[in-house]
Amino acid sequence: MKTTNLIEPDLDFIRSVMETGGQDVKKCYQCATCSTVCPISPELKPFPRKEMIAASWGLKKQLLHDADIWLCHNCGDCSTECPRDAKPADVMSELRRQAIIEYAWPKPFATFLSEPKNLPWVLMIPVLLFILIGLPTGLLDFTPEGTQIVHAHFFSTWLVDIVMIPAAAWAFLCIAVGVKRFVHDIHGTALLEGKTIQKTLIMKKLYASFISVLPEIFKHQRFSRCEENQERSTLHMMVMFSYIGLFFVTSVFFVALYVFHNHGPYSQMNPVKWIANVSGAALIIGSGLLIRDRFSKRQQQISTYFDWCLAWLVFGIGVTGMATQMARLMGLAVTTYTTYFIHLILVFCSFAYLPYTKFAHIVFRTVAMTYVKYAGRNFNFDHYD
Ligand code: SF4
Ligand code: SF4
Repeated sequence: MKTTNLIEPDLDFIRSVMETGGQDVKKCYQCATCSTVCPISPELKPFPRKEMIAASWGLKKQLLHDADIWLCHNCGDCSTECPRDAKPADVMSELRRQAIIEYAWPKPFATFLSEPKNLPWVLMIPVLLFILIGLPTGLLDFTPEGTQIVHAHFFSTWLVDIVMIPAAAWAFLCIAVGVKRFVHDIHGTALLEGKTIQKTLIMKKLYASFISVLPEIFKHQRFSRCEENQERSTLHMMVMFSYIGLFFVTSVFFVALYVFHNHGPYSQMNPVKWIANVSGAALIIGSGLLIRDRFSKRQQQISTYFDWCLAWLVFGIGVTGMATQMARLMGLAVTTYTTYFIHLILVFCSFAYLPYTKFAHIVFRTVAMTYVKYAGRNFNFDHYD
């Protein structure tokens, strides 16, 4: 029997895609070159050609409730080869930004954070929290006593933890709400497409799929197949491992402080400090080169406020962390405390705003890759080896 599918375009969605990162989406004439050249597009249900037409038709749900937009690593191979200069890589990137806003909770907060004009207020939130909690409790002292420079004399470790731990917990709660809805939606889309999967999600199988995609993520197995931006894959890995290194260092010092009551500053001969320094340097170099890469490709690739925020935030965390240490070693008290304060503002932003910024890619892409594995979609990497 012949069926009719009624297309219901979301005009606001088309407008917003074209206003931000996907202004060239309508240039696409569906030649499929992009899907052919994409080094990681699967044989069945390939991307990004189908996303290009769905975006220009305003099929918001079809796009945002699907795992596929998250399987793209924005390498740019498709944009380079597109005969119409429709920039499919940028459209995919914009669709991921839209998905982050779609799944953000609470939504007004996401909208607030996505507006460049609100940046001063976004930065003021941690400043106000530090001051309003720190000054009355005495945990923040703008005129620390003593000749030795000790971060905790200026900004108590208690104040760091009182603000940062709830900020991280808040981010975790918000992203968990979004992920729950996202999994529900992508599962619903897979069922609608007639995938041979059970209607109810099998959590045990989902967890097993998650574990099995972790090596892929750590090795950037998909990203490193891209040709146009091979260097970006390496820099991404550099930033990722430096974050893991810094997380390890912070955890060790947390235990040293609260379990063994061993207060900093710690000696430069301490092996954990070596890891901190190597990770910090890798973070600055990796994120700095990623920023340079974006600048050098600004004719071919659209970089939005969303992209720049993450790039500069990561770079800023690295630079202020390293500058704080250098200033302390040089005995520059005011510079040390100032850069440390800025460093903590940026660290807060990276935690608390994670569900609403490009940082959320880490979570949504991991979930999408996990679900694709769960649903038995074959990416068959051996095919490319
Ligand atoms: S985005 Fe470009 S390469 Fe892809 S289908 Fe459209 S015109 Fe062809
Ligand atoms: S940007 Fe790269 S990974 Fe994404 S669709 Fe294009 S070619 Fe594929």
